[in-house]
Amino acid sequence: MSRRAERAAEALLDELGLAGPPVPVEEIALACGAVVRRERFRRELSGMVVRGAADEPGTAVIGVNSSHHPRRQRFTIAHEIGHLRLHTGRKVTVDSGLRVDYRTDAGNPSIQEERDANAFAASLLMPAADVQRLAEPHVRAGATRSALVGGLSKTFDVSEEAMGYRLLNLGFLSY
Ligand SMILES: [Zn+2]
Repeated sequence: MSRRAERAAEALLDELGLAGPPVPVEEIALACGAVVRRERFRRELSGMVVRGAADEPGTAVIGVNSSHHPRRQRFTIAHEIGHLRLHTGRKVTVDSGLRVDYRTDAGNPSIQEERDANAFAASLLMPAADVQRLAEPHVRAGATRSALVGGLSKTFDVSEEAMGYRLLNLGFLSY
């Protein structure tokens, strides 16, 4: 399922021809019919997406917490684009940091949606082919973990945490 989400992000980048790194995530949101609004939400709320009416395409709104780090905001926007593209049944999706606690609740259907939206966001901001192309020379040259993660997180304009997970998932880090 998450592979499907990754492929959907790759297909969207191909379709729009908006290559990075760093990918212009707000332009992508606009191209998907969503405007981005920044608001000072309460701290644990990272973002939300409100879909437009079915008969008014292009009127979705992505809200992102302006008090979070700009790199985290980029990931949130990409995550909300994922909800917009993958989970069409809902009018409103709200992403709270408290959702992390839901991981223990196996009966919650939103867990898979969150995984999908995260996989979509990772693939959109850090396309596998680009990460591979840019990581390989560093790995061959024996770069330290922190140099690799730090350097690539700047190139892709994502948090070191997000890049660390991505490199782990793509097999460039083993811990
Ligand atoms: Zn979400």
